[in-house]
Amino acid sequence: MKKTGIVRDNRYMEHVMGYGHPECPERLAAIYDMLDKEMGGLLLGIPAREANREELAYIHSEHYIDEIASTSGIASTYLDADTQTSAGSYNAALLAAGGLMKAVSMVNAGTLDNAFALVRPPGHHAERSRAMGFCLFNNVAIAAMHARKKLGLDRILIVDWDVHHGNGTQHSFEDNPGVLYFSSHQYPHYPGTGSYGETGRGDGEGYTLNIPLPTGYGDGDFVSIYDKVLKPAALEYKPDMILVSAGFDIYIDDPLSRMNVTPEGFAGLTSLLMDLADSCCEGKMVITLEGGYHVEGQRDSVKAVLEEMAGLRKSDISDLIARANDSIVDFAIKPVLEIHRKYWKSL
Ligand SMILES: [Zn+2]
Repeated sequence: MKKTGIVRDNRYMEHVMGYGHPECPERLAAIYDMLDKEMGGLLLGIPAREANREELAYIHSEHYIDEIASTSGIASTYLDADTQTSAGSYNAALLAAGGLMKAVSMVNAGTLDNAFALVRPPGHHAERSRAMGFCLFNNVAIAAMHARKKLGLDRILIVDWDVHHGNGTQHSFEDNPGVLYFSSHQYPHYPGTGSYGETGRGDGEGYTLNIPLPTGYGDGDFVSIYDKVLKPAALEYKPDMILVSAGFDIYIDDPLSRMNVTPEGFAGLTSLLMDLADSCCEGKMVITLEGGYHVEGQRDSVKAVLEEMAGLRKSDISDLIARANDSIVDFAIKPVLEIHRKYWKSL
């Protein structure tokens, strides 16, 4: 058994974007219910805390922080065509970023082996001065800066398997070699960014690695792509910690997207990332919840990820890779390898 921590707080459910919105409190309620009924006592609770202003300003403008703060206590504010706030949203957003930072600190200190921040609102679409795509503050980007500035870590690998490209995360670090941003995503799809050619700029050139995918990729395909592209690049980069933007909208029945991943595939990806973390950074890995809109599928997939993290199951990665469709895997990775060979010797 590993010491696996979870960030969990009922105040994350006080962020409500309106009736019928897919990014709903029920997403977390189903996960928390599963934790109580099926994983009681196996995971260690991490108390959430609020992010402070200095921490939010690692990534966001002062003006934008004020704009989100001004929504506090107001029943409904529209920030974007699909992003709204309720009275409790600002506080939930502070607790999401702060809870993730707490998890990062505890894993870095060795108090925990790894951790999963089960938080809302998600963050990877949030830009410096703009809420978008159901995201208010960019939790994973703030946490990466916290690891670099406050914990003294040099190199952070952010892996984003959400079906949507994490435009906000990419833009936060595109000129910064201290963060390697790796994203696989359905393409073309919301938000429109994430093409092969977006590789970073200035000192950060080569440290943005995008894998745009057509629809229909399944468990073995994802694991094979991560094995062939992420694994060599990550072993060459040697991160001091791995952060994961885990979106469960690559789930086979997700209503917003068209990928075919099942709980077995999520466990396989987790296993592959844990192996990388063991090789590079004493297993230090922290996962945060991004999207995922099939409530039951997400619940079952999160359970599989947590079981893998805690050492309660061990996926057979080579068996998953053997089940990949090699022609669609090659189609996806060939242009990536061609573009990134000049940055990464291992590719
Ligand atoms: Zn998503």
